[in-house]
Amino acid sequence: MSNVQIEHLFKKYENADEDTLKDINLQIDDKEFVSIIGPSGCGKSTLLRCFAGLEKITKGKVLVDGERFDNIPPQKRRIAMVFQDYALYPHMTVYNNMAFNLKLSKLSKEEIDKKVKKAAEKLGLSEFLKRKPAQLSGGQRQRVALGRAMVRDPKIFLMDEPLSNLDAKLRVSTRQDIIEMHRQLGTVTIYVTHDQAEAMAMSDKIVIMKDGIIQQFGSPDQLYDQP
Ligand code: ADP
Ligand code: ADP
Repeated sequence: MSNVQIEHLFKKYENADEDTLKDINLQIDDKEFVSIIGPSGCGKSTLLRCFAGLEKITKGKVLVDGERFDNIPPQKRRIAMVFQDYALYPHMTVYNNMAFNLKLSKLSKEEIDKKVKKAAEKLGLSEFLKRKPAQLSGGQRQRVALGRAMVRDPKIFLMDEPLSNLDAKLRVSTRQDIIEMHRQLGTVTIYVTHDQAEAMAMSDKIVIMKDGIIQQFGSPDQLYDQP
């Protein structure tokens, strides 16, 4: 179980004139699926990257289960991230892409093998394990990225526009994969998208951002009901 609290978070990039994130406050409960929407450049990716520790926070804090996230050693942070461009290792097979993070852990070869094969089966990738990413379609590549995240047993799952490189039909089916994965893993999922319909369909709560601030936060029903 885990909950997430973002308190008075500010981010200013070194070369920027003003803050990109301005006093972000957010409370996310256990197992919630939260989407972040808003126009391009409003700070969605920055918020996610600050959360993941990929970007330095200027001021404020991120708490997971009440503990400052930056105090948790990176290898103990049960967090996984999926990006728009998949970020797969091109020279590695599907199997090794999915196993890569686990090989850095203390798990035995057999345990790693079991996890990778289980995830591959769930995602319909079993017959592609020996291929390289270049020999896969965009949808299959994104499922490899999901699988690589899934085997880490994350408690928090961060996704930055994971469907935006897929065609319309694949977007809908991969949506289902993501929702299923979220439910099975029982994670907190934070999902960045510019697609409002997607956010409405997938989320327990939606964050609407504009110019580095949170404009609205609520369930799809609550937001939909507003004038
Ligand atoms: P979004 O994900 O909502 O499109 P971003 O978080 O990518 O927005 O960007 C928010 C703002 O921060 C933009 O004005 C962007 O130009 C700026 N920005 C993003 N990354 C950097 C960076 N590494 N250095 C300086 N400015 C950046
Ligand atoms: P470990 O598996 O020991 O946590 P990694 O090198 O895999 O080490 O991760 C280092 C950092 O990369 C993590 O602390 C996390 O912030 C970030 N990260 C998390 N999930 C992923 C992912 N799926 N792909 C790339 N980086 C990730």
